[in-house]
Amino acid sequence: MQSKSNRKIAVVGVGSVGASVAYALAISGLVSELVLVDVNSAKAEGEAMDLAHAAAFIKPVTIYAGTFEDCRDAGIIIYCAGASQKPGETRLDLLQKNYAILRGSLPELRFGSGDGILLIVSNPVDVLTYAALKITGLPPERVFGSGTVLDSSRFRHNLSRHCGVAPRNIHAYVVGEHGDSEVLLWSLAYIAGTGLDRFCGLAGIPPVNRQEVDASVRNAGYEIISRKGATYYAVSLAVRRICESIIRDENTILTISGLIDGIYGVSGCCLSLPAVVNSHGRGSPLKLPLAGEEEEALRRSAGILKAAINQINL
Ligand code: NAD
Repeated sequence: MQSKSNRKIAVVGVGSVGASVAYALAISGLVSELVLVDVNSAKAEGEAMDLAHAAAFIKPVTIYAGTFEDCRDAGIIIYCAGASQKPGETRLDLLQKNYAILRGSLPELRFGSGDGILLIVSNPVDVLTYAALKITGLPPERVFGSGTVLDSSRFRHNLSRHCGVAPRNIHAYVVGEHGDSEVLLWSLAYIAGTGLDRFCGLAGIPPVNRQEVDASVRNAGYEIISRKGATYYAVSLAVRRICESIIRDENTILTISGLIDGIYGVSGCCLSLPAVVNSHGRGSPLKLPLAGEEEEALRRSAGILKAAINQINL
């Protein structure tokens, strides 16, 4: 069981994403100790110094650059190491490179003795999460990926703009791969307890253009990367949200990526489905009543992820 008092978090890989995660956590007040690790030790040191100098403006937190050894007693290890997408590259294109890096670093972290949680962020996040589970042998509730928590926020952002309702009041999930085959669950999109189309009718606003929203959510990463070269702010807050739910034992439902074992006829891979997140980690994914075409799309997404898993030497 995750100790509620263990507020030490390690971030492995402090490039654009890892450094933003560290910043989001440093200012969150959730963490007592933050250790930053990178093969580029000067980069980790620089980021740690820069963040530590915020001491007078944030709640007490010890921030330092460390080694893999320093991660071993962390309550959560957030794994952000590896190459990011270049313009035009898919997340699955990163597989061989980032799998090799993961395979090299996980044994150094030497999991097993404690009750820490390993949260994978690097892409392709679903395949790397599956690989991390196999390499570490840890139970599936303690190894999961940030999955489509970010994509679900993008979905809610789009619906919020159309409907004129705060994203926090919108329930809507993206499931499956964090990537090209992800699935927007239109059948489970609700505002104020009311299905989306009905809500639009009652509010006197036109129905949502599903194709447009689907493309905007699915292609968001590519659109940002083509403009600024990387994405990191929104994902870092998605990661912070996941950590918050763990540390505060919230039982929040989040679309994190984890092992799928028979649900919707899918097994043998990791992908995102809504699941309860608390101090134990990830609960079993919820079997929600999806529309027939959504289930089909989820199975297609799983097929793509399983084919990717078959390309690595686990
Ligand atoms: P980046 O190139 O800016 O940083 C990667 C960092 O990893 C570098 O600092 C590098 O030195 C470090 N690194 C490489 N090998 C390492 C090792 N063995 N141990 C420790 N550190 C190591 O890349 P980025 O933009 O920060 O992206 C990082 C990863 O996050 C990418 O795979 C990217 O695709 C992914 N990402 C995921 C999401 C998501 O929603 N899951 C969103 C954005 C980016």
